[in-house]
Amino acid sequence: MQARKEQLARLESEDSGKTITMARTVDIDRAIKNCRFFAGAVRHDRTDCHTMHDAINYTLRVPVGVALVITPWNLPLYLSSWACAAALAAGNCVILKPSELTPRTATVFGELLREAGCPPGVFQIVHGFGHRAGAPLVAHPDVPVVSFTGGTATGERIAALAAPGFKKLSLELGGKNATIVFDDADLDRAVDGALRSAFTNQGQVCLAGSRVLVQRGVYDEFVRRFVAGAAAIQVGDPALDTTRMGPVASAAHLDKIRSYLRLAETEGGVIACGGERPAGLPDHLRDGHFITPAVITGLAPTSRTSTEEIFGPVVVVHPFDADEEAVTIANNTRYGLAGSVWTSNLERAHRTCRRVHSGVLWVNCWLHRDLRTPFGGMKDSGVARMGGEHSLDFYSELKNVCIHLGSGPAPTPKELHVA
Ligand code: NAD
Repeated sequence: MQARKEQLARLESEDSGKTITMARTVDIDRAIKNCRFFAGAVRHDRTDCHTMHDAINYTLRVPVGVALVITPWNLPLYLSSWACAAALAAGNCVILKPSELTPRTATVFGELLREAGCPPGVFQIVHGFGHRAGAPLVAHPDVPVVSFTGGTATGERIAALAAPGFKKLSLELGGKNATIVFDDADLDRAVDGALRSAFTNQGQVCLAGSRVLVQRGVYDEFVRRFVAGAAAIQVGDPALDTTRMGPVASAAHLDKIRSYLRLAETEGGVIACGGERPAGLPDHLRDGHFITPAVITGLAPTSRTSTEEIFGPVVVVHPFDADEEAVTIANNTRYGLAGSVWTSNLERAHRTCRRVHSGVLWVNCWLHRDLRTPFGGMKDSGVARMGGEHSLDFYSELKNVCIHLGSGPAPTPKELHVA
């Protein structure tokens, strides 16, 4: 992967529209790290032992069997490698069903595994549409473990298909994540962090901060700087190193994003910037699915635009007064994936993180990840946690072996070296 990094980055950028810079520095870099990480994690694996006065229990990790991994188009190899590396490291065979929109890096990943000596059949790829290629595999009796990353509506269908087979199931689903900016935050850092979190990968990141909640005292200043920052983002040719936002993934997705901008206006929102076709696109990009980053103010936090996942470069900004109000607004969606808190007050940061219903929270940063930590969503954002031992446990059956020590005399304190 390291040797073919440039090719992988180019394929990822061409398939999805993400910038080549993002593909190089985030997607492929992280895909390589995922493989290294689980190769290391499994070598450092250990097992529990629970002793009783007359027996010893130890925990045995065995593979589950065939693991099915279904992945979306927004971070194709990044997410596929995250699941596949863990499943393979835990000793399973893997079937990967990548998104039909972004299939090419998965194919190269399969070739690389074969070149690296992966035995035939241990890693297989099934390309195709979800309902044709994915659904039959989810329901297949020889597939005991399913890792699905994608939309919440698809997750519901996968859960229903998997339930009769009592399969191990991980669902990493959608989000409508809150970026909470308190009035004691370092405003330069908060604006930069909120912009990155909102518009990285054209806002097509499940962890994107697509709702920004700003405390009243800094609201006007924050919005002024945030809108100026969004308007300055260079949207255009994803193959250029200078471009910060490429096109969104498909024509259908662009239509969905535009329909939410229209909805925002009917709900009383004000589009402070963006939502337009960028000017000056060269001829060869004329038909591309480009849209400039949009910032919307003036909406009720309960509006559909503010609570439904759009998954594009569209951000709503809401003011709040007391800390409690920020938590209430943050929790007012069906989702519970991620969030970030920007403050210089440590107690406030801890208190807020404890009360926000999200599986992943960042304080004064975003997308900063230690691969050992648990990752996953609450509420309609998913089921299960991945990362480090959580992943290895998910892709394993844990068995307990209890060994009786016989009916001889109990050890004396002297035998146990008790003083
Ligand atoms: P999607 O649900 O449309 O598709 C995801 C995958 O599921 C694709 O491979 C697709 O072919 C397959 N699929 C679709 N219908 C299926 C069915 N009936 N049976 C089996 N497989 C089926 O999602 P998408 O549009 O590709 O991705 C965007 C969504 O993914 C967003 O909602 C985003 O939040 C979410 N996402 C979540 C995470 C996370 O870690 N929580 C990460 C990335 C993306």
